[in-house]
Amino acid sequence: MLTTNDQYQEIRDAVRDLCGQFSSEYFRRIDEERGYPEEFVNALTKAGWLAALVPQEYGGSGLGLTEASVIMEEINRSGGNSGACHGQMYNMGTLLRHGSPEQKRQYLPKIASGELRLQSMGVTEPTTGTDTTKIKTTAVKKGDRYVVNGQKVWISRVQHSDLMILLARTTPLDEVKRKSEGMSIFLVDLKQAIGNGLSVRPIPNMVNHETNELFFESLEIPAENLIGEEGKGFKYILDGLNAERTLIAAECIGDGYWFIDKVVKYAGERVVFGRPIGQNQGVQFPIARAFVNVEAANLMRFKACELFDRHEPCGTQANMAKLLAADASWEAANACLQFHGGFGFANEYDVERKFRETRLYQVAPISTNLILSYVAEHVLGLPRSF
Ligand SMILES: Cc1cc2nc3c(=O)[nH]c(=O)nc-3n(C[C@H](O)[C@H](O)[C@H](O)COP(=O)(O)OP(=O)(O)OC[C@H]3O[C@@H](n4cnc5c(N)ncnc54)[C@H](O)[C@@H]3O)c2cc1C
Repeated sequence: MLTTNDQYQEIRDAVRDLCGQFSSEYFRRIDEERGYPEEFVNALTKAGWLAALVPQEYGGSGLGLTEASVIMEEINRSGGNSGACHGQMYNMGTLLRHGSPEQKRQYLPKIASGELRLQSMGVTEPTTGTDTTKIKTTAVKKGDRYVVNGQKVWISRVQHSDLMILLARTTPLDEVKRKSEGMSIFLVDLKQAIGNGLSVRPIPNMVNHETNELFFESLEIPAENLIGEEGKGFKYILDGLNAERTLIAAECIGDGYWFIDKVVKYAGERVVFGRPIGQNQGVQFPIARAFVNVEAANLMRFKACELFDRHEPCGTQANMAKLLAADASWEAANACLQFHGGFGFANEYDVERKFRETRLYQVAPISTNLILSYVAEHVLGLPRSF
């Protein structure tokens, strides 16, 4: 395995140790069954890793985004997939930053201990896609409740979560000055909601990612579950995205190193035409280039983490880290699959599984085009395109 020598070695070793208890056969079986890695997620929770970002006063370890990103990287680097649990790491940030003292006291300690899972965030809708300000799900205040109607799509981990952060429109679009106003976020008690106004339809998909279509028919949410001020939900959601993007970048970096380790080993051992395939420059160069790109993306990921942890603006770096890391892991995945030849397609090599998993990051949680559009407009000052 490629060695990483940095000041996070202790965290790396501890997470690697834990991940090492779960073999590639385990992850392969879970993938084949389209199951949920319950034992793995429980072990991470019990060891406190998923509560890294929860402040100590609420029972977490109060670590920075840098350390949290190392945890995510190591999970993916070990052959696992953080997608099963990364929501528990960062969704609580919304509650921490914008929740009332009472909400924080009520939920954060239970999230830190794993008694409650806040794994889900419901933003995307089928008819509006990335154009989030056009969402059609509404929450209308009636006395001490909000009544929610609408539909969401691609909402992950709902079946393995107790709570979900939901974005809904509380003031119609044509009644607000700016389209980003008039949306609010709520904490939804999923166990209570399912069957009482919320129905969940799982979406079978290319990766083993538990994700769902949600239908809201007059779901009632207690008014006290509103997070922050009514109408400011979109801003609150955006606040959390820099952490999410940086952590996802770290997952991609973990994948990238996994692919490179795997293909370097294979290319050194596989003998065709009387010599290891890795002796051919046609094989070496794509692997070396992918490695260079993973290393470069890694620098941008640490830059984003550093700024975030210093409470400085980091939107540009978080987005760039996500784009560079997703591209680099995809490049590494392609090289790994290619130089495994036919064996890359065999489930038992794990390459095809990780290949599918890392492909997702080109699209979710934000597609590469939308990041380029952000950089073009907000960093380079080019005219707004939409
Ligand atoms: C497995 C999975 C899990 C997910 N989990 C969640 C979740 O937990 N919660 C949640 O809220 N969402 C979730 N999503 C949704 C995800 O965030 C969206 O799929 C993603 O943001 C893209 O949105 P879309 O699918 O609506 O694509 P669209 O907005 O329809 O875009 C389709 C394509 O067109 C391109 N495009 C669109 N507009 C432009 C433009 N102006 N310029 C250039 N290109 C453009 C995009 O780049 C994209 O590739 C998940 C998705 C998947 C696949």
